[in-house]
Amino acid sequence: MPEVYTLSTLDYELPVSPEDRYGVLGYPVKHSLSPQFQLAGFAKREIAAQYVRIEVPIEQLSAAVEKLKQMNFKGWNCTLPHKIEMLKLCRRLDESAQKLQAVNTVLNEDGTLIGFNTDGTGWVRAIREEFSVDVRDLRVMILGAGGAGQALATQAALEKCERLVLVNRTLEKAQALAKALDSHFHSEKLQGSHNRLLVLPWDEDAIAAEVNNIDLIVNATSVGLKPHDPAVLPERVLQPHLLVYDTVYRQTKFLEAAQDAGARCANGLSMLLHQGALAFEIWTGKKAPIEEMRKALKEAAGI
Ligand code: NAP
Repeated sequence: MPEVYTLSTLDYELPVSPEDRYGVLGYPVKHSLSPQFQLAGFAKREIAAQYVRIEVPIEQLSAAVEKLKQMNFKGWNCTLPHKIEMLKLCRRLDESAQKLQAVNTVLNEDGTLIGFNTDGTGWVRAIREEFSVDVRDLRVMILGAGGAGQALATQAALEKCERLVLVNRTLEKAQALAKALDSHFHSEKLQGSHNRLLVLPWDEDAIAAEVNNIDLIVNATSVGLKPHDPAVLPERVLQPHLLVYDTVYRQTKFLEAAQDAGARCANGLSMLLHQGALAFEIWTGKKAPIEEMRKALKEAAGI
């Protein structure tokens, strides 16, 4: 089977088969590890299914969705750059997609497309699994206000986390995000003299001063995606009491810096696993076999 299908190769290269069809749409999508661990889940639950990578430029998304419907795909994931555009192509939106204003999972129910977002809840599960704590009990700092940063900040607000500090290189994006989340932070939960929702500029001294009042720092920027990227924050800004989570799904220089500072660390593999496991459950109605999926994902990631 090819590693990646396109809109023009999908219908004649995908083997004709009675198996249920699923996939992941992205641009690029070649790097996606979703097929490996979703297929392990289907195998464990004895569901005969295909799961393929489909490379779709944003301007072809609508045509690709029509083709997937014609070809009876039962569901798909979407990754960059399709999560926002997919909102418009779904007939109904689950509360998760409405609240995060992005779709990463689509269920095709006899031609009716229902959009979900499992990124936020997948991340919450990942934090609980990695650090044995709940986001709602934490003071959280999120670095980045792009797609991932917005999703995680919104989820943290929905969880009613103790405190949320947003940091982004382009300050205006973090400010707009804080404005959108402001209503979640007017509650009975007290937080001394510190604001429960705060925006900081990308300034290492300002971040270092705030770290005293933070439990969890999350890297939701794209810094670290390339192996030679520097640490998104240096060791001198970090402290031993911190939990540090990098959404990039491998060891990054940021995680090395955090380890050197004595912090507890985890990478984004667990978030990828749990968002995928939640998608599996939406599509199949069956409990995701987490351990089999985790094993396959680790193998695919070379860990
Ligand atoms: P995006 O929408 O393109 O946003 C990129 C973010 O990174 C923006 O906030 C951008 O700041 C910031 N940034 C880029 N270069 C920077 C630099 N040199 N210094 C400081 N900030 C910089 O991308 P995205 O979809 O949010 O993805 C972000 C990360 O999340 C990626 O690493 C991706 O792998 C990860 N992710 C992981 C999972 C998972 O399952 N583990 C799921 C989704 C995403 P500006 O606003 O200033 O440009």
